[in-house]
Amino acid sequence: MAKVNTVLGPISTADMGFTLMHEHLLCAFPNAVTEYPDLLVPDVLEYVVARLKLAKAGGIDTVVDMTTLDLGRDINFIREASKRSGINIVACTGWWLDVPRFLSGLMASVTPAQMAESFVREIEKGIGDTGIKPGILKSASDVGGVTPPQEMGLRAVAKAHLKTGVPIVIHSYHPGQVARQQLDILKDEGVNLKHVKVDHSNDTTDVEYLTWILEQGCYMGLDRYPGRMVSPLARTKTLKALIDAGYIDRLCPSHDCILGYILPAGIATQQYEAMNPHRYLYIKKVVFPWLKEMGVPDARIKRLCVTGPRNFLEGK
Ligand SMILES: [Zn+2]
Repeated sequence: MAKVNTVLGPISTADMGFTLMHEHLLCAFPNAVTEYPDLLVPDVLEYVVARLKLAKAGGIDTVVDMTTLDLGRDINFIREASKRSGINIVACTGWWLDVPRFLSGLMASVTPAQMAESFVREIEKGIGDTGIKPGILKSASDVGGVTPPQEMGLRAVAKAHLKTGVPIVIHSYHPGQVARQQLDILKDEGVNLKHVKVDHSNDTTDVEYLTWILEQGCYMGLDRYPGRMVSPLARTKTLKALIDAGYIDRLCPSHDCILGYILPAGIATQQYEAMNPHRYLYIKKVVFPWLKEMGVPDARIKRLCVTGPRNFLEGK
């Protein structure tokens, strides 16, 4: 039976239930919660737990937290939030976009094999001294394509995957078709693309390009809701088109919703939440009714956020 590591220990993939594959409990910078809490939403742990409890009550069973160390991953915070809310949370390892400019000279001399060792250590032994093991590897590139430090990180993620079997998620920039470049690098490292999920794919409505990605064998994160650039309704039409084309069991809708954040001065938390008052329940409350209106049968809607995540984590 396949297992996935959550922050409270391994669970069977059969028990993941309704799974949001790309969310963030908190995005900031490392040690923000313990050392610079005044910059964050007040009582940030309570704040996040309250919203996770609402998600749990609304039928969300499992959340994958895609926050890497450089985005402020705080593994003790995530563990505590999981314990208090009752939601299964899978953490990730890997690297986000880039390194601070003044460090990039130093990082340029780090090799993929060297970086991969850190990711493998977290997967095999745990993050820091917590014993908590991540269940996903992440790499990111955005506007302008894969930069040299990002290529190093992506190759490191590939090497860590080949060593551990933990699947890979890539943050991509779809208006620029950057996944073509990212997938080429992963193929060059010898990665079977069925172990790769290409995220933020609903930032484009170019179904032909998205079909090309799926035809490479990848899974697909349609994981920005409500999102910017493309309207939520247009995102849902893209989702419907890919369901109709027969890819439903490789699609992973999610929100990329950050619950806890650095709160700019003068902004109230209500204003901050106004863009998506449903938080992790937006897909259930808004997107699924749209799909139903568009003629997608209930039995198919029920597979979304269940079979795709499970198949991906089982390496099918
Ligand atoms: Zn994200």
